Amino acid sequence: MALISDAAARPSATQPPPAFDVQRLVRSELNALEAYTPIVPFEVLSERLGLPVEQIIKLDANENPYGPAPAVLEALAEYNFYHIYPDPQQTELRAALAEYVGVPAGHILPSHGADEMLDYLCRIFLRPGDAIVDCPPTFGMYSFDAQLAGAEVIEVWRRPDYSVDVEAVERAVLEQATGRVKLLFLTSPNNPSGTWLPDEDLARLLRLPVMVALDEAYVEFADHPSRASWALRHDNLVVLRTFSKAAGIAGLRLGYGVCPAWLMETLWKFKQPYNVNVAATVAGLASLRNLDHLRATVEKLKAERRRLTALLETISYLRPQPSEANFVLCRVVGRNAKEIKQALERQGILVRYYNKPGLDNCIRISVGRPEQTDRLIEALREIDAVRL
Ligand code: PMP
Repeated sequence: MALISDAAARPSATQPPPAFDVQRLVRSELNALEAYTPIVPFEVLSERLGLPVEQIIKLDANENPYGPAPAVLEALAEYNFYHIYPDPQQTELRAALAEYVGVPAGHILPSHGADEMLDYLCRIFLRPGDAIVDCPPTFGMYSFDAQLAGAEVIEVWRRPDYSVDVEAVERAVLEQATGRVKLLFLTSPNNPSGTWLPDEDLARLLRLPVMVALDEAYVEFADHPSRASWALRHDNLVVLRTFSKAAGIAGLRLGYGVCPAWLMETLWKFKQPYNVNVAATVAGLASLRNLDHLRATVEKLKAERRRLTALLETISYLRPQPSEANFVLCRVVGRNAKEIKQALERQGILVRYYNKPGLDNCIRISVGRPEQTDRLIEALREIDAVRL
């Protein structure tokens, strides 16, 4: 070790340090990283549109318009120990989740939203030089987190009906040097298409020598059962779930991973001790004690998805995609999707607009309350009557 013996050579407390470029200390691969575009906060939108928050119809982020059960809000108000750190092992929450998901608590790890679990997986499995396989169009966080970990993103595009091209995924993994592709991200139902990944496709992809992360953020809205229990039989499967959608507490940030036993050991070492805060835990537990309410809300949203899809089919310039989630993707034909989005926004109705490969000229509409659907459809019909 080099010792600095000459005190004069060292900067003193009164002397400014020699000039150096502090920014060069940042990992250089981060320079090329494209920032994730988060949604605009409600309050900012309200000011921008000159409309009170209550009048905004927010159908752009797949949130649950009903929010949590009243019992969840009561539990949050009554809880008295916000000054105490959370249980790092989340024992009570994991026991309740075990009942709900139908897998032993030892296979469940709660997280600060499913997003945190995605970040953990990328940082556990990926080093610079490694790769993931991503199946766009899909949720943007997989490629974002993978690039943050310095990994390459190999894209295997979905077919025109948004189904996963299983053979192409197999080729993409097997073409690479053995072990280079560490993670395969699959989403079912997929965001933004609402597409289900069939059991046989998942089973086949699980034979690949990679870790499969199956994102089931929207599974409660699907017409098929969850594959969470598959993580008990497949050592290379982790299933991600969330309270943001069906349970309606996106703002509190609570998700979880259902993992094979060996991965739990690594996750316990890896995770931040207090990654799930007390409010999220209280709300999560109360949601699971009030499953009748959660299930009734899900049924209302599924019925509304059917009604919304049927109504969207009557709009001449929209081609809604069948969906198993709480949103409907629509291709816009003969009109400009961005202009449609802007015209809706002027009326306080927010939808997500895309114009990228696989999602050319598309909008995604989250399922809202019936009265929100009615206002949306009315606005879309007006747009139909007027050329923008
Ligand atoms: N996965 C998918 C497919 C999503 O669409 C989202 C949120 N939009 C998430 C995960 C993130 O969920 P959470 O709010 O639990 O972080």
